[in-house]
Amino acid sequence: MSLFARDVHVCVLGSGSAGNCTYIGDGKAGVLIDAGVNTKQVMTRLADAGLADAPIDAVLITHEHSDHVGAAAILGRALQKRGKPVPFWMTAGTAGGIHPKAVPEGIELVEAGGTVPVRHLRAECFPIPHDTADPIAWRVHVGSLTIGVITDLGRPTRLVADKLAGCDLAVLEFNHDEERLLNGPYPYWLKQRIKGNHGHLSNRQAGTLLSDGLTPRLRTLVLAHLSEENNTPVEALAVATDTLKAHGALGDVAVHVGRQHGALPPITLRTETW
Ligand SMILES: [Zn+2]
Ligand SMILES: [Zn+2]
Repeated sequence: MSLFARDVHVCVLGSGSAGNCTYIGDGKAGVLIDAGVNTKQVMTRLADAGLADAPIDAVLITHEHSDHVGAAAILGRALQKRGKPVPFWMTAGTAGGIHPKAVPEGIELVEAGGTVPVRHLRAECFPIPHDTADPIAWRVHVGSLTIGVITDLGRPTRLVADKLAGCDLAVLEFNHDEERLLNGPYPYWLKQRIKGNHGHLSNRQAGTLLSDGLTPRLRTLVLAHLSEENNTPVEALAVATDTLKAHGALGDVAVHVGRQHGALPPITLRTETW
């Protein structure tokens, strides 16, 4: 056997309360993480990214909120029409919490902390603190690369920092600016939910998590799940770049900001595989 290089494509197709979906694949195998973006848009955005024929072998779900799973049933039918049924991996708690209309065919259960083989890729999940039944985040291992999608958590945890530390590319939640949230238009109960321990990461908390989990391995960072009401890309970027600067890593990490209503251009990484 010989070592050969292969391109891995990561395309954040949508990020935020309007719908979440990220594609990760290497041309031979691929996954979608979450199914919260309208299926027609998923297909259009993949095609616009040059990934129209990219393989989709599994869908990895994080939790039952509709911005992560609302399009799952329709996506499952569309993927079946493309040629074959695709498993939707999730925890039992998530499966039990999905709105009946969104329940996809082909649910496969994984325990938080488990690993799922997807052809020659490995998808690994771990628990996160969020206000749903049994929420998880995913890392996908492609050859020598590890790609993490870590959103919808109320606070940084040691486990999540450890998982971030193993990532070459991380899609990481920078949900809100705390001042904007407190002074903004949301009702009191919603502000409490978002800033609570099982809500969403503020920019400051995301900076702390980044500090705790930053290693020289991290080369690409996508700021994700930004609130339209309570954050701006400029503010999220400022926290991320200040954090990287404090660690002397500013020039080493490419930073992108995910979009609510459109895809980011695909990010291509190179892996070496046997
Ligand atoms: Zn969400
Ligand atoms: Zn959520």
